[in-house]
Formats: sequence, structure tokens, C-alpha cells
Amino acid sequence: MNEETHVFYRNPFTVYPVIARGEGAYLFDKKGKRYMDACGGAVVSALGHGVPKVVEALKAQLDSVEFAHTSQFTNTPQEELAELLADLSPGGLNHAYFVSGGSEAVESAIKMARAYWVQMGRPEKWMVIGREQSYHGNTLGALAAGGNRWRRALYEPMLYQRPRVSPCYCYRCPFDKDPAHCALECADDLERAILEVGPEKVSAFIAEPIVGATAGALVPHENYFRRIREICDRYDVLLIADEVMTGLGRCGTWFAIKQFGVVPDMICLAKGLAAGYVPIGATLVHNHIVDTFHNRRNVFQHGHTYMGHPLAAAAGVAVIKYMQQHKLVERSKKMGDELMSRLREALHDHPHVGDIRGRGLFCGIEFVLDRASKTPFEPELGFHRILGETAFANGLIIYPMGGTLDGRRGDHVLIAPPFVITKAQIGRLVELLVKSIDATVDRLRD
Ligand code: PLP
Repeated sequence: MNEETHVFYRNPFTVYPVIARGEGAYLFDKKGKRYMDACGGAVVSALGHGVPKVVEALKAQLDSVEFAHTSQFTNTPQEELAELLADLSPGGLNHAYFVSGGSEAVESAIKMARAYWVQMGRPEKWMVIGREQSYHGNTLGALAAGGNRWRRALYEPMLYQRPRVSPCYCYRCPFDKDPAHCALECADDLERAILEVGPEKVSAFIAEPIVGATAGALVPHENYFRRIREICDRYDVLLIADEVMTGLGRCGTWFAIKQFGVVPDMICLAKGLAAGYVPIGATLVHNHIVDTFHNRRNVFQHGHTYMGHPLAAAAGVAVIKYMQQHKLVERSKKMGDELMSRLREALHDHPHVGDIRGRGLFCGIEFVLDRASKTPFEPELGFHRILGETAFANGLIIYPMGGTLDGRRGDHVLIAPPFVITKAQIGRLVELLVKSIDATVDRLRD
């Protein structure tokens, strides 16, 4: 039992080092130990730590006003941030609904989809379809839409039971197809689910453009989202792109969904939006949805106390401007290519590395017991957990995660460093990672 802490998250006895400061791609604890932040915490720190420009912008905002409620005032930073996002987002997503994090952004999107269909005179369209092996947040609505079984397990039955469809998981195709010759059966699974429950009941389909926490930077088939868009259009189902992890440059473009050639009806953002300087989330909404709320009697009935918080919005503005000024989205692509080729060079023939995947500075590695058969490690071994702990002890922070397959088995890590990472630092990252993987394998062998 840790006697010194009154903080309770997972359990009261896990002792963490105390964070002291951050600089660029590094964090330092109070004892002076240095850690390379190779996953931005939880894919949050896009700019790196301690960027003076962002800190100055936050101080300046505090000098003017710290808070004014959105039901009484608007504020300059939220207006500016909404405009910047409208300029950067795919065509037509011209409005932003600001909240305080990813789960709130997803909840807002789910409720907005439902409210939209009420506006359209179709109140029976309420159901959201999600995918297996997806994560959309930990609040009950977002958790119900997601398909991360181990996060859901304790809370079943969920408030709403919603259908979930197959993921687009080419390394382990759920339909046993070769991705080079498949007919996008995984995308057609959405049509099957819509027809099964009845299109008249389905309001939206939600998906991460590149799956993050539950499947380790799972990049979909090139044509997957085009087929999904067609199916959504055919049955009047809104498409929600959950870009909480992938958004704002992480995958080498401002929005990952742009790489797959479709425009969604809503986009959820959080993490990278203020890069960890202040909590923020946003749901970007297409004009055709916003237009239905232009009648004063038909408002979007929702809201949170801290939505549009001036400090959070000021951080978002400062982060986006810094990224534009320093061409960090382009850098995410360039350094992502460098990271990917270094990872492949170092690990392509490693007996326990099954797949290396991702886009931009959003890379995932899936570990297996046996490469040829793709057999995963037994979950009781805790491969990903031991790897995460070993890397941490070696001064490397990665994002380990399990449960990709049947909810129990599967081990992977996310590597998602800040965009300011240098080539030399990428070299060091890969070196520490390989050392940690080998030490983990040795430990499990003993
Ligand atoms: N959506 C996705 C894709 C996420 O990866 C996450 C968090 O990891 C969330 C939603 C939830 O965000 P938050 O933890 O800020 O509530």
C-alpha cells in the first residue's frame, strides 16, 4: 500500500514516479530520471513538452479572462479555433462543438446524430453501429458504441446494446481473405448489420480512420471507407469519424480520414487538439446537420459546463498556429516514414514481431508467439504489460495494449512520439525498444 497517496485511479497501491518537467520529446521525474516520451502519454503530446509559445498564449489568456459560460458569452479563442478548424477540415465540416475531452466529443456526436434525425422527422433513427476492436471513450454511451471487450466487460449489460460489425483488420482478416484480392467483406458487414436491425432505426456508424488503442495503428484497406460511405448514404446513416487519436497531424495529414477519400458527417477530436497543454475536445459538424438547428425552437439539447473554455481554446489556437508555422504536419509524415523504416529494419525478422503498421507518427507493432501461424501469446503471460514496464525502466515510454483478438488475446504497442522528434532521437527510440523487447522475451523464457 502506498501510504503517501490519496489519489485513486486503478488501485491505491501502484506507485508512480513524480513528474517534474518536460522538454521536447523528453520527460524528467523528480529523481532526475529522463524518459523518452515515445507515445505522447496516450497519443496526446503532439508538439512535445514545454513549448514556450503555447505557455505564453495560456498566460496571456489568463491575464484577460479565465472563464465565462458559453450560455452567456462567446470568447475570442473559441471563435478563432472554430474558424481554423473549419479551414483545415474536409469540405463542409464548418462548425465546431467544443467539449473537454475525447469521450465527451463522442457522446456529443452520438447525441447530435440522434437530434439530427429528430429534426429530419425520423425520431425512430436512434441506434449507433460501431466496430469490434474499436475504442471511443469510457463514458457509458461511448463505451457502448465501442468494441473493446475488456474495457466493456465489467459494465455489461451496457445502457444501450448496439450492434457491432467486423473491423478492417487485414493482418488477421475476419473473413479469411487476402487483402490484395478481397471484396471488402468487412465493409459490407455494415450493410448486413443495418439490414438486420432495420435501416429505419440506425442513426450513425462510428469508426476510427486508423484504429488506435485497441488494435495498434490498424490501417484500413485503401477502399474500405469509400465503401462505408456508400453504404451509409444508401441507408441514410451518418458517418462519424473518431479522430480523437489520429486527428490534427498525427498520421501525416491534418485529418487521417482525408487519406481515404471520404468526407464524414462529423469528426471527433481531442488529444492532439491542444497537445496536452489543456484538456479539450471537439465535434466537428457538417453544414447539412447544423442547418437543421437553425430554427429557434429546435435547438441541439446538450452541453457541458466547461465547453468552449477560453483557456482550452487558447491552447488549441496556439498549438495549431505553431504546427502551421513549423510545418509539423509535414514533419509528422517525414519523421513517420523514418520511424517506420527504422522499425522495419530493426524488427522485420524478429521471431515475435508479427506486424508493423501505421501512418505518419502513429505506428503500431503486433507481437505474436509464432510468426508463421500468427499465434498470439497467452494473455496470462502479460507480454504487452511486461514490455511496457521494461521499456519504462529503460527510460522509454510506449503505449502497450492487449485484447485485440477475441477480447482476451493479442499484444501490441503504439509508438507515437511528438512531431518534433529528431532523426537521432528516432534512432535512440528504436534502440531502446529493441532492447526492451529482447529483455521481455528473455524474461518470459525464464
Ligand atoms: N476515441 C478514441 C479513438 C480514443 O483513442 C480515445 C482515448 O484514447 C477516446 C475516444 C476517449 O478520449 P478521452 O480519454 O479523452 O475521453
